[in-house]
Amino acid sequence: TDLSHIRNFSIVAHIDHGKSTLADRLIQMTGTVAERDMQEQLLDSMDIERERGITIKANSVRIEYPAKDGETYILNLIDTPGHVDFAYEVSRSMRAVEGSLLVVDATQGVEAQTLANVYTAIEADHEIVPVLNKIDLPASEPERIAEQIEDVIGIDATDACLISAKTGVGIPDVLEAIVTRLPAPTGDRDAPLKAMLVDSWYDPYLGVVVMIRVMDGVIRKGDQILMMQTGAKYGVDKLAVLRPKMQDIAELGPGEIGILTASIKQVRDTRVGDTITHQKKPCDTPLPGFKPSQPVVFCGLFPVDNAEFEDLRTAIEKLALNDASFTYEMETSAALGFGFRCGFLGLLHLEVIRDRIEREYDIELITTAPSVIYQIHMRDGTEIELHNPADMPDPADIDHIDEPRIKATIMVPDEYLGDVLKLCQDRRGIQEDLTYAGSRAMAVYDLPLNEVVFDFYDRLKSVTKGYASFDYQLSGYRTDNLVKMSVLVNEEPVDALSMMVHRDRAEMRGRAMCEKLKELIPRHMFKIPIQAAIGGRVIARETLSAMRKDVTAKCYGGDATRKKKLLEKQKAGKKKMRQFGRVEIPQEAFINALKME
Ligand code: GDP
Ligand code: MG
Repeated sequence: TDLSHIRNFSIVAHIDHGKSTLADRLIQMTGTVAERDMQEQLLDSMDIERERGITIKANSVRIEYPAKDGETYILNLIDTPGHVDFAYEVSRSMRAVEGSLLVVDATQGVEAQTLANVYTAIEADHEIVPVLNKIDLPASEPERIAEQIEDVIGIDATDACLISAKTGVGIPDVLEAIVTRLPAPTGDRDAPLKAMLVDSWYDPYLGVVVMIRVMDGVIRKGDQILMMQTGAKYGVDKLAVLRPKMQDIAELGPGEIGILTASIKQVRDTRVGDTITHQKKPCDTPLPGFKPSQPVVFCGLFPVDNAEFEDLRTAIEKLALNDASFTYEMETSAALGFGFRCGFLGLLHLEVIRDRIEREYDIELITTAPSVIYQIHMRDGTEIELHNPADMPDPADIDHIDEPRIKATIMVPDEYLGDVLKLCQDRRGIQEDLTYAGSRAMAVYDLPLNEVVFDFYDRLKSVTKGYASFDYQLSGYRTDNLVKMSVLVNEEPVDALSMMVHRDRAEMRGRAMCEKLKELIPRHMFKIPIQAAIGGRVIARETLSAMRKDVTAKCYGGDATRKKKLLEKQKAGKKKMRQFGRVEIPQEAFINALKME
């Protein structure tokens, strides 16, 4: 195809502002999919995405559009993941296209993820067309929101498209704007092949499918290709475009987007952002800025029922095949038995994987306290990356500890601002900026990631009744006074509950933890001390008093069947308990004890 007749774009939006609905309308109005095959949220293929309304994996669709100028254009839409955990993937897929539609809900206005995503688009040098959605709703204020876009983002919104993705109003204008306002791609057909690996996923019939954007040169079926970062070599088995069903194609030239298969064994073998070229006549330099995504949040996943360990292994191995950014290694815990220490891109990623294991593989899990990566600088000059508080070296050998920090952007209606500032302050946040746009405030904070991985989202949601929006990016490491806090139940350390905390917050955390556990652990026949400690020093303590009587005592010695029944009932209740020395701890205690405040 002639480059001047191609337009590549993505849609950026805050969650729920209508990205998927708009994509559906664009596909529908151009007749890309027959009316009878039309289903909602066509591009969001995974169940879990649909249920949660988030798009996790990028996907794409090729649309043919006969424009008002009488020419037919090929429009390639790449759907990018909308969540902060996948920021790296978003920034890569943005580099595969030249423009973005910026969708803003005209009843809500600019939100934190609107900003984060539009800045990524601006960084990728995109031309941006603002689109104000939901104008069918009486509460919509397109003029005010257009002004807000100009004030807050600083892009011209006078020619914003006013649409209702739901009813279809304004969609033809969006299609025309894509053709007239977004630039055509550039590239050299005669140069050596240079294509970007935009995304990859596992297809049960085809195996690993790789989405590519050709920059220069031409790729054909049967070509011998090289992935420049991983060094892996393959032969192209299949070349196709997505409409959104796969349609085989003979070749893909500059500016084009499509998929290939090449007998690649697992998704882990492919790296988003890698450069694909020909083995025989490779390009000189790979695409700039490649970095593999690294997990930043770690936690232990243990089966509630130890007998399910092998099932859990199978589930984790299968999920990892399809997700290069999810890491795992076996872990044993005195408290929880055999499990896995897993690494994730962020909390949402953690939640998605945990949910899939529980749902798709039907394994009940205990998740230990999430931890970030600490850089431990030892006195002897060596450096350790700590992923698990259980591996903390002797504090006497440590010179100092660095922890990861984030730059967080929070947008919130004025009336909740006070509570949000307090929350950030309580979490060791440092305010960097505070500005107002209409009745909403935007606060920018420098926060330790460790304070965010616990329950920051939940707290933020509850103090703002769900009206705040939040986004963050990692900003670097900083030295701070961090210690490992252990929890002891009846003098036995419960490793699954140990965590890294700031020294100034240790007493508070320790006290809260002991109080929680006191409520969560059932009484026993004896007194149980519950303690939080740093090194050998106890910093908080509660005592769970003994049960007054044996529950079977009131059954009068004689009634054996009744006594037996009662014991059986107790036993059934015990299934979900874990034995610690002489103490039994219910599994909910592990989950609930980690929810602070
Ligand atoms: P996404 O998270 O950005 O992909 O948002 P969705 O496309 O899933 O839309 C979020 C919700 O807003 C859904 O319930 C849609 O039906 C609804 N929605 C999307 N566009 C419109 C619109 O133009 N008008 C109205 N009234 N609702 C819309
Ligand atoms: Mg969506």
